[in-house]
Amino acid sequence: MHTIDFDTRLMLAGGHWKTCAGGQTLELVNPSDETPLAHIARGGAADVDAAVAAAQAALAGDWGALAAAERGRVLMRISAAVTAQAETLARLEALDVGKPLSQARADARALARYLEFYAGAADKVHGQTIPFVHGTTALTIREPHGVTGHIVPWNYPMQIIGRSVGAALAMGNACVLKPAEEACLTALAFARIAQDAGLPAGALNVVPGLGEEAGAALAAHPGVQHLSFTGSVGVGRLIQAAAAKHVVPVTLELGGKSPQIVFDDADLDAAIQGAMISKYRNSGQTCVCSNRIFVQDGVYDAFVEKLVAATAALNVGDGMQDGITIGPLVNEKAAADVDKLVQASIAQGATVALGGGRHELGGCYYQPTVLTGVNSQMAVFRNEIFGPVAPVVRFSTEEEVIAMANDTEFGLASYFYTRDIGRVWRVAEALDYGIVGINEGIISNEMAPFGGVKESGSGREGSKYGIDDYVEVKYMLMGGL
Ligand code: NAD
Repeated sequence: MHTIDFDTRLMLAGGHWKTCAGGQTLELVNPSDETPLAHIARGGAADVDAAVAAAQAALAGDWGALAAAERGRVLMRISAAVTAQAETLARLEALDVGKPLSQARADARALARYLEFYAGAADKVHGQTIPFVHGTTALTIREPHGVTGHIVPWNYPMQIIGRSVGAALAMGNACVLKPAEEACLTALAFARIAQDAGLPAGALNVVPGLGEEAGAALAAHPGVQHLSFTGSVGVGRLIQAAAAKHVVPVTLELGGKSPQIVFDDADLDAAIQGAMISKYRNSGQTCVCSNRIFVQDGVYDAFVEKLVAATAALNVGDGMQDGITIGPLVNEKAAADVDKLVQASIAQGATVALGGGRHELGGCYYQPTVLTGVNSQMAVFRNEIFGPVAPVVRFSTEEEVIAMANDTEFGLASYFYTRDIGRVWRVAEALDYGIVGINEGIISNEMAPFGGVKESGSGREGSKYGIDDYVEVKYMLMGGL
């Protein structure tokens, strides 16, 4: 295993690692035992100014001058370097976020794949000619926005940096990244890896810090031409409002409240497998977790029995240890918040089939929990859960379940299990979601467009669609030929 030579207390601007202007730091805590893990810079408005200025200088200098194919080669080298350092990155992420190491390894691989995907796309984004009036030629070219701001959450720093920063760099933008204050070690390590792999100075700048300080300064900065925000709906609204001041386009990847529908004709074991991976990945702290599991009358009892058995077999503990499948939540407040939703729902009549409270390991741990008899009035039905809690809802008809599944302000990912091909098309079209998994519990992939409708956001990241958010179309009409 290699080490990555970076100082967690520094920010990066214009190729220089330095303390932030105010000289202050924030403490990162290891969620598995709540001991101090590292200190990070507490960046502020002056640091964001410096980072944006460095990005502008890079666009006017070496980075802006690189041919598209050469940008692709640089990204390919960064991808290879990420692969070489994958184990170190995975360990940092597992320590910082608390997720099982096996899952953090998958995240490091995903980061490398996003970079590789967009490296290949760098020189394949072309303009068009448009047949126009005789004597003129009309054409389009596609240009980078300029400086792009990237504000990312703590739960999947590597994957989100891969899909947003990867696409932005490939298209020739210069990035300012604001990672989350709860967990940002892999963001810093990635910046170091990219620098060592030959990314020109200023193409990627990193300002760690608090959301309401560094994040707000970046969102409101007049020198930023595009904002990519991944996080909660509430903060997403603030970002959109800040961007509106300078009419800056935004990509918003916000929260979710995914339904998983299990019809009577489903392959029940596949549905259980899908529920387990979707619901409990990262201890239930993903935006695409199955958070309302709708099960049809005919298979309800059998499904609940299997789900409870599979959930009881999960192994809770420190994600760095072998065989652990559920780590701690990101901090103690997260465990307390999950418990509030669970206790409110129990008071509203939900039945505890398994778990139902804080874990005996204490601190940030929560018991893997299955609640049955859940209905649309309950707290666990309406709110994003962000913990290892599976609410199960009984239903009778297809129409009824589609109405319940769409009864939310969110519209990110949805899942359903059936073997009826007619139902596959009907239900896939009827679900108001940006993503539909049909007999599949994992939908995220660098080749597929990720993003939501309704309050889950706007724009797409990943895939060829993820390129569109990072380029402008310029139209030219040439006359007098
Ligand atoms: P959050 O909104 O609290 O924070 C996300 C980022 O925004 C952090 O970097 C934070 O520092 C920053 N921030 C906070 N306040 C800010 C402000 N006033 N101005 C600018 N920046 C600010 O979200 P979180 O708790 O870190 O992450 C969990 C949320 O993210 C969940 O809702 C989850 O569903 C969502 N999420 C969505 C996706 C997706 O792709 N759609 C992926 C992962 C997480």
